[in-house]
Amino acid sequence: MKLLCASAIAIAALLSSAPQSQPDWRAVEEETLRHYQALLRLDTRNPPGNETIAAEYVKGVLDREGIPAQIIAADPKRANVVARLKGSGRKKPLLIMGHTDVVTVDPAKWTFPPFSATRDGGYVYGRGAVDDKDNLTAALMTMILLKRGNVALDRDVIFVAEAGEEGGDPVGIDVLVKDHFPDVDAEYCLAEGGGVTRKDGKVAYATIQTLEKIPRRIELSAGGPAGHGSVPLKTNPVVHLAGAVARIGEWRPPIRLNETTAAYFKRLADISPPDVAQHYRDVLSSDPAVQKAADDWLFEHEPRHSSMLRTSASPNIITGGYRFNVIPSAATATVDVRLLPDEDQPAFLEMVKKIVGDPAVEVRYPQAAIRPGGREVRLDSEAFTAIEAAVTRVYDTVTIPAMGTGATDMAQLRAKGVQCFGIGPATDTEDGPRGFGAHSDQERLLETELHRFVRFNWEVVTSLAKAR
Ligand SMILES: [Zn+2]
Repeated sequence: MKLLCASAIAIAALLSSAPQSQPDWRAVEEETLRHYQALLRLDTRNPPGNETIAAEYVKGVLDREGIPAQIIAADPKRANVVARLKGSGRKKPLLIMGHTDVVTVDPAKWTFPPFSATRDGGYVYGRGAVDDKDNLTAALMTMILLKRGNVALDRDVIFVAEAGEEGGDPVGIDVLVKDHFPDVDAEYCLAEGGGVTRKDGKVAYATIQTLEKIPRRIELSAGGPAGHGSVPLKTNPVVHLAGAVARIGEWRPPIRLNETTAAYFKRLADISPPDVAQHYRDVLSSDPAVQKAADDWLFEHEPRHSSMLRTSASPNIITGGYRFNVIPSAATATVDVRLLPDEDQPAFLEMVKKIVGDPAVEVRYPQAAIRPGGREVRLDSEAFTAIEAAVTRVYDTVTIPAMGTGATDMAQLRAKGVQCFGIGPATDTEDGPRGFGAHSDQERLLETELHRFVRFNWEVVTSLAKAR
């Protein structure tokens, strides 16, 4: 309740600063849908990507509007687009971005062909509908509207359509950050990773991603002499490895909260039914026993929330042996580790070695992290405040800051000091389990929510960049 009152005050405070001149939204909707469908129809599944077809489409649109845009490609088939609307330079730029690649498809499983952008029952279906051609379209429309409206800006607004996000291929954000950083350097950035949750068709809350975990893998390996299966050996690598995997599977690394996750559970508790809310509050308790009981409940019922509390470790690949009567000489396992952004990575490895507790099993990071860690954005920052106010104006709901358990291209920008926020359109919470979510075989988005998301983008961008 307290939160709702705070929102009401925020609305009153921001009414005066809300953008006065609005685009003709009805006319905008037709155009939004046209670009969204056109982008969904471009087959940019990664691998192989072929994002250049989307980059050329986007550049064509920007060119027609007279918005300066450049193609940046380390691989000619996997191009990125960077465009810029100039502001007075009074403030550092704002970057808005969306990735052009999508995950692969199994067309046989789709009711509507995955690259058809079919409209049905108020939805648009297609691979990338909510990951990430929604953000891409909304950012593109915002650039078009700023330019057409001749909006005076206090800061440059930079638009990026990047390749290779799915799987973190080094053709997209890495190229832009390493070789073209002045072109994308900004104070703030907006990208995927957040969203508005609807329950029973009604908006329940908005999550804004303010930081994300760092994905990394740990490899376990055991070795020993090969032998005849009829003569069991104490050194059997399969046995040693299986024990190590089981111990990691049973282990939950220590809980460590940060500003975002603490605010997340607190605000979620404020809008949840009392029985569930109690678990969210207990997780914040200074009493370890109370916290542990809440964590046990989350691990069983809401595993994503359990992962948000800690660096997580999930053993996902195990290999060893090739014939039933041969004791193999080696066995290996790969653990998917999602590190808290400020985790001490060598110290965490030592912790895993202790949990494994078997000198016959080697524990190591086989490669460097693909994405770097970044600093957390402050919740009292100008940008978070503006985003929260735009959520209130457009969705009339509460804003909850969240730490992503997955990874996005914001990681590279955050590592360079850009304060990034993950946003997204409203989707039905029932859609995920029913197989309509991101990466599913029926990815879809409500047309009305696509249009509302464009308005939300416009609100956030104008309140942060429009000249005062
Ligand atoms: Zn994505």
